[in-house]
Amino acid sequence: MPRETPTYALLPCALCQFETASGDDIVISSCFHSACLDMVDLEDELYLLRFVEAMRYKRQPNLLQKEMRRHHLITCLSAGLLESFAQQGTHLPLELWNKIAEHLLPHYASANARSLWRRIKPEPVRMTEDIWCKYVDFEGIRYITKLSNSPSDGWELIYRPSGESIKYIFTAENHLGVISLLFSTSSNEPQVDEAPGIWWRTVHVKGEDLALRERIDACSLLFTCP
Ligand SMILES: [Zn+2]
Repeated sequence: MPRETPTYALLPCALCQFETASGDDIVISSCFHSACLDMVDLEDELYLLRFVEAMRYKRQPNLLQKEMRRHHLITCLSAGLLESFAQQGTHLPLELWNKIAEHLLPHYASANARSLWRRIKPEPVRMTEDIWCKYVDFEGIRYITKLSNSPSDGWELIYRPSGESIKYIFTAENHLGVISLLFSTSSNEPQVDEAPGIWWRTVHVKGEDLALRERIDACSLLFTCP
C-alpha cells in the first residue's frame, strides 16, 4: 500500500485508534499508522478488514474513557520495558520509561490487540440450558468474548433456566464491546445505575434455541484469549 507523510491532521488510525498527526508516517488510503500496519502484520486483506472492524469504535468514547485507556497502556508498556531492560542490565527510572512508552503507544496498542485477536466462529446457544460466558481483559476493561452451553476453565455461569421463558436480553456496551448481559422475562428496562459511556441495548429473543453469539456480534469484540 502507498505510504506518505501528510502535512495535515487526519482521522484516528483505524488500527490503534490514536490520533494521526502531521508528520506521522501513515498509509494514506486506509488511515493506518505505517508502524501499526507493520505491527498487525496481516497480509490477507480480508483478515485485515476483520481486524479493523473489531477495533472500530461503535460509539465515541468520552474523554475519561480515552484517558483511562491511554493511562492503562502506558502503565503496562513502561512496566514491561522496565522489567525487560532490567534483566539485561539497563536500569532507568520508571518516569523515563513512561516517557518512552508515550512515544510507542500506537505501536504497542496495535501489537497488543493483534496478540489477542482471533476470528471466532459464532456458536448457537440454547436457552434451555445453562449459559456460560468467557471474558477477555482488553486495555484494562473486561469484555464478553464468547457464550456457550459447554464451559471451559475460567468461564462464568451467567444464566440458568428457571422455567420462565426469557423474552429479552439486555446488553451493556461501551464504545468497543459488550461488558455485561442481563436476561429478562419482560421488556422492562433493567433497573441499573446510569454510567457515563455505557449504553444498554435490547435484544428480542424469539424461540428457545438461538445463535445468541450472532445477535451480539454486531457490537461485541471478536477477541479471545490465545
Ligand atoms: Zn496506529
